[in-house]
Amino acid sequence: DTAVLEQIKETIQQKHVELLHLQFVDIEGILKHVTVTVEQLDDVVNGKIMFDGSSIKGFSPINKSDLYLLPDLNTFAVLPWTVEEGYSEARFLCSVMNPDATRFEGDPRNVLKKTVERAAQQGYTISVGPELEFFLFKTDEHGNPTTQTQDNGGYFEPSPKDLGERVRLEIYRALKAMGFKIEASHHEVAEGQHEINFKYADALGSADNATTYKWVVKTIASKYGLHATFMPKPVFGINGSGMHVNMSLFKDGENAFFDPSDENQLSETAYQFIAGLLKNVKSFAAVTNPLVNSYKRLVPGYEAPCYIAWSASNRSALIRIPAKRGVATRVELRCPDPAANPYLAFAVIAAAGLDGIEKALKAPAPIDEDIFHMTEERREELGIENLPASLGDAVSEFVNGTIGRQTLGNHVFDEYVAMKNEEWNSYRTAVHTWELEQYQGKF
Ligand code: GLU
Ligand code: MG
Ligand code: MG
Repeated sequence: DTAVLEQIKETIQQKHVELLHLQFVDIEGILKHVTVTVEQLDDVVNGKIMFDGSSIKGFSPINKSDLYLLPDLNTFAVLPWTVEEGYSEARFLCSVMNPDATRFEGDPRNVLKKTVERAAQQGYTISVGPELEFFLFKTDEHGNPTTQTQDNGGYFEPSPKDLGERVRLEIYRALKAMGFKIEASHHEVAEGQHEINFKYADALGSADNATTYKWVVKTIASKYGLHATFMPKPVFGINGSGMHVNMSLFKDGENAFFDPSDENQLSETAYQFIAGLLKNVKSFAAVTNPLVNSYKRLVPGYEAPCYIAWSASNRSALIRIPAKRGVATRVELRCPDPAANPYLAFAVIAAAGLDGIEKALKAPAPIDEDIFHMTEERREELGIENLPASLGDAVSEFVNGTIGRQTLGNHVFDEYVAMKNEEWNSYRTAVHTWELEQYQGKF
């Protein structure tokens, strides 16, 4: 760590860093930060910066409100868009600590660490590659987001149709300058929809990256007068935005999902992991698909899953096994959306897979037919169940399942359930435009 700290000090000198943003996320995964001057670097790295936890939704009660930020030195990055002659700003992602220097259990980063440690006890490291899609929308004269896209492009379409290409290029440059390894950048299927892929990392590193990515995308888009959103289904009738989660387990430096002798080149461990995901997905969907709006994406016909099945190639299935094998062997879970808190999402997904391994669950046969166009009878025959149809259903499953409380811990679990019940009830009792359009004149 001293070597890393020396490097940081050198960069601070070279880039004339004046301000440091200490960042963390709340239970919903929303990024927060407090800004200090660079002179306080020693206090910062020693975890001496305090904040009021009672002002962060779902954190701590008013009588135990003092919390501390402990930066992860590996997340230090100069913010490319702040750099001027002789001036710049940098950030650290932090874990949240109690006054007695123990981990604060309401911090999602600490929740994921617990799952990483649980996997480590069984000899596994969790490798995660998330793919976050987003929309770019025009803003109105007050700077508020509209639902008008800035282009009519489609999948992989190049300029000049794709005005987003310029924005994407700048996002790419910013992420690269912050240490991301970018693998691809492209226009997605829907008009105004984009995706930039970065290299997989360990679970914590990838959750940090997903959090940073969302912030950078929004920041750069706003420089162009555009609003970037990770809302799962902003426009009816076209594709929504997913956050596919590619996951694998490594043991002794080897990919534990790869077995060249199997017909699908998958190991017993991989099959058990898949079985764990299939068994537990209903009870963790409230975390991977956290919004009322999430369930409007999970409908047939838009490359998003709605049935619980796995396949080697099928994009209508919940779990797909991308063609790559060897070290790149992985399971792609297609239901999560980018509104999910990546720390909590990766924790529940990994926990579900590990549950399958611990209980040596058997995976059902893969489904290679197009499930969207299957009759209900055929699905029933094959034992294919549905994902929860609404946030209300998902929260009930979450409360009745075991993965949630076990993985998130009492604090986050209870706060999360309370928050989501409130959200669902507020939606459920609101009168929507659709209802007025359908009923007001007729009845
Ligand atoms: N946008 C699709 C979704 O909602 C995914 C498209 C893709 O396969 O990349 O998940
Ligand atoms: Mg995509
Ligand atoms: Mg994908």
